[in-house]
Amino acid sequence: MHGDALIERLPRPRGRLTPMRALAELTWFRVGGPAEVLFQPADAADLAAFLAVCPAGIPVTPVGVGSNLLVRDGGVPGVVVRLGRGFGAIATDGARVTAGAAALDAKVAIAAAHAGIAGLEFLRGVPGTIGGALAMNAGSYGDEVKDVLVEAHAVDRAGNRVTIAAAGMGFSYRHCAAAEGLIFTGAVFQGRADDGDAVTARMAALLAKREAAQPIRERTGGSTFRNPAGFSSTGRDGDSHALKAWKLIEEAGCRGLTIGGARVSPKHCNFLINTGAATAADLEQLGESVRARVKSNSGIDLCWEIRRIGVIVCRSKTA
Ligand SMILES: Cc1cc2nc3c(=O)[nH]c(=O)nc-3n(C[C@H](O)[C@H](O)[C@H](O)COP(=O)(O)OP(=O)(O)OC[C@H]3O[C@@H](n4cnc5c(N)ncnc54)[C@H](O)[C@@H]3O)c2cc1C
Repeated sequence: MHGDALIERLPRPRGRLTPMRALAELTWFRVGGPAEVLFQPADAADLAAFLAVCPAGIPVTPVGVGSNLLVRDGGVPGVVVRLGRGFGAIATDGARVTAGAAALDAKVAIAAAHAGIAGLEFLRGVPGTIGGALAMNAGSYGDEVKDVLVEAHAVDRAGNRVTIAAAGMGFSYRHCAAAEGLIFTGAVFQGRADDGDAVTARMAALLAKREAAQPIRERTGGSTFRNPAGFSSTGRDGDSHALKAWKLIEEAGCRGLTIGGARVSPKHCNFLINTGAATAADLEQLGESVRARVKSNSGIDLCWEIRRIGVIVCRSKTA
């Protein structure tokens, strides 16, 4: 990767282009290599103008705050787009909330509560941005983005600004079919009027529940694997994800399993932890080892929920 050479081929935006920008410090896992070029657009018009003339062969990868992301040790070729201040606004109108894609989910939930809007409480404990929440159909404790989204705003790879109604997002469990090639710039959500103190109290209860169950102060990437499709609590059922990945991981004896600096969290075994000196390779190998053990124990193939991006470098430290 040659950041300076790539910058020579790129349009000059109003925002910032940084060659070979370390991404580790921009993700929750704190691992991984650099972005060949990191682009922080000034606003949606700047992003659109940049993409309209950015040569088509150059890969463009959006990231949020990296709370569901494993950046591999070899870094990410092409342009990594990280939205900043120009995409952080949050406004309320009646029971509607409009938020920029860089706004943190927690801040959006708090703003909704202050305005006496219920329905967005589930976002309070999701540590990502609105952009990441749209791309992942983020959810918790039974609610998800698809339940409250009115429309999403985005820029496509050709630089066109588009609005996508909720029905056009192709949402399913932790998935947005529309996300491919789009960079979300904002969203409008519909809540319902409620007493702000009651909304705040419900958010506090959800946070306490999360704190008790998840290693939320560790270097982690959240849920590593999706709950497998097709299992309800009473057996096979096409659209259900009731069988929990953590349960399969526990039954396969993986709680606390360690490779190099990477460990399966003893607190919640669907979370991988960087104990301090993990490489991205350690974390990915640990995840693959968990998948193999679960397959051998239960016959079930776990699918990664964490997005893995970038180039693999094979130089893991082993325990
Ligand atoms: C402690 C912890 C707890 C978590 N709990 C939950 C939970 O309860 N529920 C839940 O759903 N998730 C949870 N997560 C995972 C994570 O917070 C969510 O998936 C979140 O939506 C990711 O947002 P992000 O901004 O960090 O995106 P990133 O992790 O940076 O990126 C995730 C994906 O979104 C894409 N993306 C990001 N921004 C944009 C954009 N603007 N336009 C297009 N694509 C974009 C990226 O390309 C990538 O594919 C948790 C994570 C941690 C660390």
